[in-house]
Amino acid sequence: MTLLRVEDVDKSYGDEEVLNGVSFEMDRGDVDVLVGPSGSGKSTMLRCINRLTEVDDGDIWLNETHVTAPDTDVNALRQEVGMVFQDFNLFAHLTALENVTLGLKRVRGMDADEANERAADHLRQVGLANQADSYPAELSGGQQQRVGIARALAMEPKLMLFDEPTSALDPELVGEVVEVMRDLAERGTTMLVVSHEMGFVRSAADDVHFLDDGRVVESGPPEQLFQRPEHDRTEEFLAGLQ
Ligand code: ADP
Ligand code: MG
Repeated sequence: MTLLRVEDVDKSYGDEEVLNGVSFEMDRGDVDVLVGPSGSGKSTMLRCINRLTEVDDGDIWLNETHVTAPDTDVNALRQEVGMVFQDFNLFAHLTALENVTLGLKRVRGMDADEANERAADHLRQVGLANQADSYPAELSGGQQQRVGIARALAMEPKLMLFDEPTSALDPELVGEVVEVMRDLAERGTTMLVVSHEMGFVRSAADDVHFLDDGRVVESGPPEQLFQRPEHDRTEEFLAGLQ
């Protein structure tokens, strides 16, 4: 069953065409990865899906929700689409647990006990049961990012977006975050991930979409893109990653 449908999306900033006829689809439970050079439009594509950025043309559907329609309830949409950012975006003055409960209480209207219980479950899921009362500054980058993942998961979104979730981390901390993402993938979480972590891409991706200059040059399962790319540009870019 199709969960996400991106149809012919265009987006420009001034004279610069950042997305140019981008289309792809994801079924429920799929893990899709966007790869491409810096500036190719990957972050913009993710941001259009939760309406942090508006498309100029084209349509995005999440189940029956017409994401790009002007009258779409953006707050309701963002409850269905969790986002994990490159730089974590945690609140420095809140503990790990409070970072996770904030949305549950404010947006979902949960009472404190229920929110605390749910948040503790999700912190446990990302291996941070013992860090619930720590502030972000007391956590490593990898732990902070795992709080970011727990915070997004706690809202029980239909789709999780990850924008280069490991690129701000010291190399020795990448593995613990990738491990959590791999675990989510195995549990059937629908994930659209911008990442150049090839271990994750090869083992977890259903489809990889190679974006260059705002266009999807080529899409397919990782083994196809890595071993039998149709375009020289794909081959050249992927060869540079390994
Ligand atoms: P990627 O994530 O693939 O590196 P981005 O989607 O961040 O690419 O950016 C694509 C292009 O759009 C870049 O040239 C970037 O400078 C430009 N861009 C992104 N966001 C904005 C913005 N808010 N205003 C103007 N230009 C932007
Ligand atoms: Mg980006």
